[in-house]
Amino acid sequence: MTVSFWQAEGTQPVREVDFLVVGAGLVGCATAYLAQQAGHTVVITERADIAQGASGRNAGFMITGLDAYYHRAVDKYGAAVAREMWDISTQTITFWRERIRQAGGAVRQVDCGSLLLAESPAEAREIETAARALEAAGIAMHYHSRDPLGRGFYNAIENPGDGAVQPVELAQAVFQQSGAELIAGNELYHLEQTTPEIVTVFTRRYIFKAHYVMLCTNAWSALVDPFFEGKVIPTRGQVLVTEPLPAPILTTCGYSDYGYMYYRSTFDNRLLLGGGRNRHFETENGTTDDRITGGVQRTLDDYLLARFPELRGVAIARRWAGIMGFSVDGLPLAGVLPDKPRVGFAVGFTGHGLSLGAGTAERALHRLLHGTSAGAVDARRLL
Ligand SMILES: Cc1cc2nc3c(=O)[nH]c(=O)nc-3n(C[C@H](O)[C@H](O)[C@H](O)COP(=O)(O)OP(=O)(O)OC[C@H]3O[C@@H](n4cnc5c(N)ncnc54)[C@H](O)[C@@H]3O)c2cc1C
Repeated sequence: MTVSFWQAEGTQPVREVDFLVVGAGLVGCATAYLAQQAGHTVVITERADIAQGASGRNAGFMITGLDAYYHRAVDKYGAAVAREMWDISTQTITFWRERIRQAGGAVRQVDCGSLLLAESPAEAREIETAARALEAAGIAMHYHSRDPLGRGFYNAIENPGDGAVQPVELAQAVFQQSGAELIAGNELYHLEQTTPEIVTVFTRRYIFKAHYVMLCTNAWSALVDPFFEGKVIPTRGQVLVTEPLPAPILTTCGYSDYGYMYYRSTFDNRLLLGGGRNRHFETENGTTDDRITGGVQRTLDDYLLARFPELRGVAIARRWAGIMGFSVDGLPLAGVLPDKPRVGFAVGFTGHGLSLGAGTAERALHRLLHGTSAGAVDARRLL
């Protein structure tokens, strides 16, 4: 969305803040929590409201690792980075689970594990190789040489430590535990590093003077600062959910087709099915439009009948879309804007913010406050 001269003219009242987070998704709320733990007083400014972006529209999988199969991650990034990303992921899921425990029943989650399943003999070979690579890295998992679901898959990797969550409830709990002030309905227009210690942030209702700013704007980051152009690409994901079923169809998080298809049962026994993006790259990549499309939804309908034929005739209760921020090299970006040293960022989760969000946010925070390297997710790798 563009902003007019009249909207951005600068007659808003000035507010001084210590630490300003932009974006109230899972990553913005985690950043607020971590900044408050580091002794800062935090305000979050959000264009819409908590978890109205990808954080409230996802499948709720807390799955360890990257989207690439482990041996592919080793080939692409090297063994050390693949392992570091695994550890960031473990750290992230531990962070969510601590917040869930602290929320005392307000966040629904289940320690259901996950199954990475093969749709074809070629994918089965990839999964077998990935299992061996995980084993070589000393990462515990269970390899199934046959389909453990009996639904026509070829083989699978099971990770019993993974889980599923209600992501809106999670974001709300993390926000509440952060102690931050939220200013909802307050879009950032632009920002300037006005002195070495002060960032001026022009928003719909206020002009903030902040000591520190952290951008947690994921898919929309290139609209906030040109630094992110070509580095974070908005990408649409689509989902459907059935009416409640008499019993859960699945008791695990399932994903297949190289991660492009994913499915789970909801807490009231609906089947949630998402993905199909790889058959429709031309419409799904490079868009911030969160409407559903006929092509992807037909792919999901066909997949539902192929893998879950017992659901023929079951009504679909809701279909939706969300916009993810895909990073240009597949790894999240944590860092500080080169021309604005008091503006940090944690973006580009490439469809894996529940897996990688909090661990990346913590590294971004340390980079902003103390200048330490963010390691594998440090955005300086792209400069
Ligand atoms: C269909 C779908 C399924 C997914 N499934 C999973 C899954 O199972 N597991 C997993 O790990 N990940 C999944 N993801 C990805 C996951 O949802 C994201 O990686 C995660 O939510 C990113 O969190 P975030 O806080 O960075 O981004 P978001 O939740 O998108 O938050 C960014 C926020 O910034 C705000 N904002 C943007 N611009 C401005 C501005 N100018 N001013 C103020 N505010 C602004 C937005 O309104 C938004 O609230 C899925 C995503 C989708 C769409």
